[in-house]
Formats: sequence, C-alpha cells, structure tokens
Amino acid sequence: MAELIVENVVKEYPTPTPAAPLRVLGGVSLKLHSGENLAILGPSGSGKSTLLHVMGGLDAPTSGTVTLDGQNPFALSEKELAHFRNRNIGFIFQDHHLLPQLTVLENVLLPTIAEGSPDASLKQRARDLIERVGLSERMTHRPAELSGGERERVAVARALIHNPVLLLADEPTGNLDRKNATAIGELLLELQKQENTMLVVVTHSLELADMLSRRVELEDGALVN
Ligand code: ADP
Repeated sequence: MAELIVENVVKEYPTPTPAAPLRVLGGVSLKLHSGENLAILGPSGSGKSTLLHVMGGLDAPTSGTVTLDGQNPFALSEKELAHFRNRNIGFIFQDHHLLPQLTVLENVLLPTIAEGSPDASLKQRARDLIERVGLSERMTHRPAELSGGERERVAVARALIHNPVLLLADEPTGNLDRKNATAIGELLLELQKQENTMLVVVTHSLELADMLSRRVELEDGALVN
C-alpha cells in the first residue's frame, strides 16, 4: 500500500532582508495511505498551495522531508524528479491548464507524450477515462468548445492517465457554480475510489471539504485539526 509521509516540512521564501525570510510553512507533518482522501482548508495566503506543491515534488521544502511510496522525491536529480512526478502524481488545477490547440483526447494524453509517443493501451486508457468523466461525445473537441465544468473533467482524466499513487487538486471547483462543483467533487471521489489512489484537495469550499473523509486546516503555516 502506497503512503505519503510529510514530516516537519518548513518552507521559507527569501525576502530583501536575508536574516528574515518569509516563513510560509512552519513544520507541517501528515500521513496518508492509498484509498484515503484529505481536504486542506485555510484562509487565502495560509500556505495551502505551497504545501500542495511541496507534496507534489514541484517545490522543495527548506527543511523536513516528503516520502511518497518509499521515495524522497527531492533526493532525485531534476530529470529523475520530472519522471517521478509524471509517473506517480496527478495534478488538477483550478484553471485546468489545458492546451487550447489540442483536442480533449490529446490533452488527456499530454503527460504520456513527455515519455515518447503513447502506445495503443495508453490511448485506450485515455478514451476510457474520458468516457468515465462523461465526455465520450467530446473526444475531438477543443477546450474553447467546452464549458468550465467539462474542462475540469478533462483535467481530472488527464491527471489519472498514468495511474498515479497521489492525486493533488488545487481549488478544483473554484471557478464553478454550485451544481458543477458538487458534480466535480463526486467525480473526483468516485475515481479516487476506483483507482485506489490518495487524494489531497486544497479548497475554500466547506461543501467540497465535507465530501472528503478527513480535513485539516492551515493557520499561519501550521496544521490545526
Ligand atoms: P494559499 O494557497 O493558502 O492561498 P500560498 O501557498 O499560495 O497560500 O501562499 C502562502 C504565502 O506564501 C503567501 O504570502 C504568498 O505570497 C507566499 N508565496 C507563495 N509563493 C511564493 C514565492 N514563490 N515567493 C515568495 N513568496 C511566495
């Protein structure tokens, strides 16, 4: 069973005064196992995205460690880390980050292209995922031809293409109306269960947090339960 272990993570950013860096995370620890999900709540600027980026290997902590499936991503070379992230972690962002010139199918296959052209089984998985997010009629459409909720569904399918052990979502419903937000929350949870991944969702939405089984709150860079 895969595990995510965050131990005493401190994240500081430099300021013009070298002796007084900006401390965004002040020693955060948490643990998650396959099949578990967690909501991270907290006011704007409390460090939620920073914590998500550190968990996802996008941003190295100043001190402390992250272990995902037995590996410390920050001990890897830059090239190895890019491969590790691509294979093990699925990211879903509020503004979906889809490429406008690509079709739905091509966008879902995008993470596979970094590692050579996708084989038949990856293409089949992409089509299956698109069907599971309810967009089988939209395979060849481009993002501009989709609604906000549909674009977010494509982002969910893309995040799952490599069967990630960890799925990270940053305000996945932030741009959506209530009905679409609930639908995306339900979809995320359904797919997380089917795929038996870990899911961490950063959100302002108490409704979305209520759908998840665990929640923590960030306050001044520290977790309060
Ligand atoms: P949240 O997601 O909770 O809104 P963030 O993690 O985005 O909070 O940001 C927390 C704090 O860290 C903010 O004060 C922000 O300005 C600061 N911050 C984030 N990224 C950087 C960076 N690359 N350099 C300097 N400060 C940053």
